[in-house]
Amino acid sequence: MRLSRFFLPLLKENPSEAQIVSHRLMLRCGMIRQEAAGIYAWLPLGFKVLKKIEKIVEEEMARAGSIQLLMPTLQLADLWRESGRYEDYGQEMLRIKDRHEREMLYGPTNEEMITEIFRGTVKSYKDLPLNLYHIQWKFRDEQRPRFGVMRGREFLMKDAYSFDVDEAAARRSYNRMFTAYLNTFARMGLKAVPMRADTGPIGGDLSHEFIILADTGESAVFCHKDLVDMPAPGPDVDWENLQHVFDERTSLYAATEEMHNPDDFAKVPADKQLSARGIEVGHIFYFGEKYSKPMRAVVNGPDGEITVHMGSYGIGVSRLLGAIIEASHDDNGIIWPESVAPFDVALINLRPGDEACDAACEKAYKALNDAGRDVLYNDSDERPGAKFASMDLIGIPWQLIVGPKGLAEGNVELKNRATGERQTAPFDDVLAQLTAKKV
Ligand code: ATP
Ligand code: MG
Repeated sequence: MRLSRFFLPLLKENPSEAQIVSHRLMLRCGMIRQEAAGIYAWLPLGFKVLKKIEKIVEEEMARAGSIQLLMPTLQLADLWRESGRYEDYGQEMLRIKDRHEREMLYGPTNEEMITEIFRGTVKSYKDLPLNLYHIQWKFRDEQRPRFGVMRGREFLMKDAYSFDVDEAAARRSYNRMFTAYLNTFARMGLKAVPMRADTGPIGGDLSHEFIILADTGESAVFCHKDLVDMPAPGPDVDWENLQHVFDERTSLYAATEEMHNPDDFAKVPADKQLSARGIEVGHIFYFGEKYSKPMRAVVNGPDGEITVHMGSYGIGVSRLLGAIIEASHDDNGIIWPESVAPFDVALINLRPGDEACDAACEKAYKALNDAGRDVLYNDSDERPGAKFASMDLIGIPWQLIVGPKGLAEGNVELKNRATGERQTAPFDDVLAQLTAKKV
């Protein structure tokens, strides 16, 4: 992508409405634009990152055996009356009437709808376990939308739902999601700690929130320090045998404020006690028959009818952009982990119009694109200082800097955004290095 043909409305000033760094940087980088309180338009740079995050989520869900579908945003109120949540949900639910005065709502979550799909289509226990998910916009009329995409009213969520014949099988499904979440967040460069959590209005008795530690987090959290740096199990874990993944982590203390027990926390060695603030990026629940019973989601078993055991598993896809930026930035701007960066390489032409610079940049642009690298070619007429500042701001992992002086000797510069390191090297070597990079 040539910057001259891209749409990147950067802000020079810090927007006064942004209280935390991720919100400030997302606005300054032209990633999002607020259209109403807690409702954002995703501008091209933000949309690219959103798609990258979605892709990682999709790949890890597939690995764990979850199957993607897509449910609508609008739902019938009557469906929610079946579970009893239509009245219970309160003011967070956006209620709508169609032209026939039928009561509808903009989905804040999809337990009822997936249960309806299940009961209408799955008849036999032989079709279980089943895990279905979608990535869809949700609406919750939050009392205090704030911090940009972190607490929006309209936000993108991945929500998966598992169906099993009994509690033991449902726990295995839970462990698969638990493991998939550890891998998913690790691929985004995040250290997410699973913490015992309150089950809230979704209900049930087994639940974990996945928390990123950050001073700007909305939740107070308490955990054993070793959990923070515990490596993710990785893709090659034995997916049929995941209890140890769960046990290794849950044997160490970790709880959100609602579930915090100071007496138990006191048993953690003093130098391992961590009390901090955190951002919730995912939340998983096992809730058994809470929906399947009132909504009659049953299958035929070998000895008669079985009411299925369910769980639900959410990831705040749009919130993750904010969380990643909170975890990875410096005074100059965002530092994207390579896995979710909007572009792989920023190609900076220090003197557009100079024949040698233009030719080298065109060559690099083509070679990198051919190699499947996503390149933002900064071909603008801005002075070099302004180019460096804006490329640092938007945080592309690699900057390939082409200027007349270096080029006269056959050299270009390669800057690593994360470390700030700059290396001067022959043009062809740098190109070879960048095109060989596995993204
Ligand atoms: P919170 O306690 O932050 O309100 P929740 O427990 O209500 O979250 P869930 O219903 O478990 O959230 O939703 C799954 C995920 O969706 C959360 O872990 C979070 O990452 C994300 N999420 C929830 N509410 C919002 C919101 N208002 N804006 C952005 N993301 C959200
Ligand atoms: Mg909430």
